[in-house]
Amino acid sequence: MALDLLLRQGRRADEDAPVDIAIASGRIVEIAGRIAADAPEERLDGRLVIAGFVDSHIHLDKSCILDRCHCEQGTLEEAIASVATAKRSFTEADIYARAQRTLEKAIVQGTTRMRTHVEIDPRVGLKGFHAVRRLKRDYEWAIDLQICAFPQEGLTNDPGAEELLVQACEQGADVIGGCPYTDADPPTQIARIFEIARRFGLDIDFHLDFDIDPSWMHLDEVCRQTDAQGWGGRVAVGHVTKLSAIDHCRLAEIGRRLADVGVAVTVLPATDLFLMGRERHLHVPRGVAPAHRLLHHGVTCSLATNNVLNPFTPFGDCSLIRMANLYANVAQIGRARDLKACFDMITTLPARLMNAAHYGVAVGHPADLVVLDSRDPTLAVAEVAQPLFGLKRGRRSFTRAAATIHRP
Ligand SMILES: [Zn+2]
Repeated sequence: MALDLLLRQGRRADEDAPVDIAIASGRIVEIAGRIAADAPEERLDGRLVIAGFVDSHIHLDKSCILDRCHCEQGTLEEAIASVATAKRSFTEADIYARAQRTLEKAIVQGTTRMRTHVEIDPRVGLKGFHAVRRLKRDYEWAIDLQICAFPQEGLTNDPGAEELLVQACEQGADVIGGCPYTDADPPTQIARIFEIARRFGLDIDFHLDFDIDPSWMHLDEVCRQTDAQGWGGRVAVGHVTKLSAIDHCRLAEIGRRLADVGVAVTVLPATDLFLMGRERHLHVPRGVAPAHRLLHHGVTCSLATNNVLNPFTPFGDCSLIRMANLYANVAQIGRARDLKACFDMITTLPARLMNAAHYGVAVGHPADLVVLDSRDPTLAVAEVAQPLFGLKRGRRSFTRAAATIHRP
């Protein structure tokens, strides 16, 4: 078979020995210690080669709007209200241009798969959905984009929102999302979202339990419905910052329940750190759910970007390796095996959370490959290792020049 490219001596995240990877017609056709073939080559010299980073939770449609928003108190309430106002003047072209800027940043950071939430409500209508759907097609050469349509400002309290959500599902939304904490009737919203998900056969992704008051949680109802509807393995929840405010015994109990019913968790460190604990002025709590502890109970967990340059998070370079490093630092992780878990939470685990097919460096899979300037996943997290180049279905999708020192 004629090969298109041979990657020489790359190291996979779970194997010590370097391997050659042969690519033909956009697929990985052979992996072996040494492949004898006459084909264009790229020497990796033992560097890490992964199937790309997987961002399981981002908001492309409302990224890059800091210049038109208030960000005075830095609370969740202010962020939602400020974006709700800015959203009224969004156009499809404007959403596309901002989302494109953010998506291109993610591509050069080595992200090859992504789930973006898109807001649906009677004010913005389907503008965000249509803009991002176009972006998904225009960038399929670089990234697989899942679109999750969701009602940020509530469902049962917002007449017309459910009809729009259903229209988005009819027009190709990949996932349906919910946001019970902004709804006047959270349990009814949860029930409605499950009903629409069942009607269209979609996975569900909730924004959930986004404060640090552990006296009540919507998580119980989401677990109960997941179980009752037989939707295990198809439900994810994002934030769940309440889990940062409970003791280890209760966390273990909740972790076992999440694993049993098949509800996955996405932690969004940049946003959670920015918005939580604003009522405190001294000893501000971190407000980041302990994903690495939930992993020990068998929960599928991921670390993701969430917001970029808006009142929810006025930062963002779309680097998931930076997010893993930020989480490790905040969660006081020092052991190698926990650092490796942080790497898994931006690669294999979000791929599992998103039910992404054919992810991984394996024969028969699409040649979605990203080379990192590191030899080891734990060091990659510790040092915020930079991606050097990436392939999507065998075609080079980005290159980042390595830094050069110019000695005297
Ligand atoms: Zn979000």
